[in-house]
Amino acid sequence: MKKDTTKKEYDLLIIGGGPAGLTAAAYAIRKRIETMLISEDIGGKTNYQFSLPGVESHLIIDGEELVSKFKSQMEYLDFARHLGKVKKLEKIGNRFRASTKDESFKAKTVIIATGVMPKRLNVPGEKEFLGRGVSYSTVSHAPLFIDMDVAVVGDGHNALLAAAELTQIARKVHVVGVPTKILDSPLGKKVKDSGKAEFYTDYEVKEIKGETAPEKIVIKSKKVEKEIPVKGVFVELGYIPSTDAFSHLMKTTPEGRIIINENNQTSVPGLFAAGDVTDVNANQVVIAVGEGANAALSAYNYLLALKP
Ligand SMILES: Cc1cc2nc3c(=O)[nH]c(=O)nc-3n(C[C@H](O)[C@H](O)[C@H](O)COP(=O)(O)OP(=O)(O)OC[C@H]3O[C@@H](n4cnc5c(N)ncnc54)[C@H](O)[C@@H]3O)c2cc1C
Repeated sequence: MKKDTTKKEYDLLIIGGGPAGLTAAAYAIRKRIETMLISEDIGGKTNYQFSLPGVESHLIIDGEELVSKFKSQMEYLDFARHLGKVKKLEKIGNRFRASTKDESFKAKTVIIATGVMPKRLNVPGEKEFLGRGVSYSTVSHAPLFIDMDVAVVGDGHNALLAAAELTQIARKVHVVGVPTKILDSPLGKKVKDSGKAEFYTDYEVKEIKGETAPEKIVIKSKKVEKEIPVKGVFVELGYIPSTDAFSHLMKTTPEGRIIINENNQTSVPGLFAAGDVTDVNANQVVIAVGEGANAALSAYNYLLALKP
């Protein structure tokens, strides 16, 4: 039997303490909504930083300053929080119950802001150079690679999109693993016509090598192994939304992202979602922050209309 530490029912439960969850919390407490935040960590993906040796990082819009404001409001207002992973979320009548390993929390409404995990290449050098040349987001980091040689690794349309973006910025773009059927598209033609891309269709990356940052990738086909000098490696294999505990409740996209409307409402009344975990256009801190605020204001309106 799980321990119900509080015995009380919160107005709002926020699951996830990244930019979306923290902003939702700041807006909720400003509205005097009785809030509980449950998260495995505070800060989410903003705890990762990206810097490229020898390159000014002012081209990065990391949103850290913005998020730190909400973090400090949270400290000041000192509302209920619990560090842990939500393993199960249930809807019981018009109420919700979220359970961690050994506790459960009841609430009238819930905001899910649990983010996504990028799919990894799982090759030597990837973890070592994460944030120092290995990236999972061209939107965030491509602007740093002006006139440099980079690689994009992936097997789907997103890898081609990333390659297209990088041909506008980098000197040379080595596209590894994108199949011919995807390259034979209007976008594929554009990338080819840029004259900046090299394609390695039947290759996979075996290793990322370098001293303090990537210097080359080792790629391998059935017959050949070669090394390509690059300063950046963009891994574009897609994302895994962190929805194990909730996906049975509401509608999701084929990729597993939570479908929301313009009020950040999911397909379940009283259940809202915000940030990367939803079907928003891009995974960015400033977008997650706006979504968190919107979800909190919608949850507030829901609570006003909720019958006891
Ligand atoms: C390496 C890296 C660099 C990036 N650089 C930039 C950048 O320069 N600029 C930019 O705008 N964006 C950048 N991004 C993307 C940006 O960090 C995300 O868009 C943003 O953090 C999304 O916020 P979020 O709150 O939706 O999710 P997240 O930040 O992912 O936060 C999710 C939170 O939910 C918690 N959580 C997950 N599952 C559970 C669960 N079951 N129970 C309880 N808690 C749970 C996590 O612990 C975490 O606190 C980067 C991402 C990465 C990975």
